[in-house]
Amino acid sequence: MNRTGKTRAAQGVKKHYNEYKDFLQREVEAHICASFMEMLDMKTLDDESNLCIPSKDVSKESRQKWFMDLCQEYVERYLGYDDVMSIVNQTNALQKKIVGPFICRSCSCEMKFVHHSGRVRHEIKEHKLLADKDLESEIDEFGYYR
Ligand SMILES: [Zn+2]
Repeated sequence: MNRTGKTRAAQGVKKHYNEYKDFLQREVEAHICASFMEMLDMKTLDDESNLCIPSKDVSKESRQKWFMDLCQEYVERYLGYDDVMSIVNQTNALQKKIVGPFICRSCSCEMKFVHHSGRVRHEIKEHKLLADKDLESEIDEFGYYR
């Protein structure tokens, strides 16, 4: 708010989540643009880049490879390949976990649910799993409260 001079902007992330989300997305985009400009030796938006952009005469596959190589160079230079791959692997692992069906975790029940949240609701209501003292945490591996 101070940096952009928007002193009347929504205050408090808890009550204005969407405004903060929008602001942070714009800020991330600005950082990506600024770092890309730096990589291309551009000081202002009007500067010419030092890139040799393939023309339309070059095959589509070659232009795609050129662009992919450029993006890979960017990722390695500004984000770090290992850091990005770690996040990609974590995201893939989480994605695999959130695909149903979700089977009730009570020993005596085989109910299936489309959503994990429905399973948790069922487990609490039908099996009183919340009262189970063996649970290590209030939050399960999907980030939901048990
Ligand atoms: Zn059950």
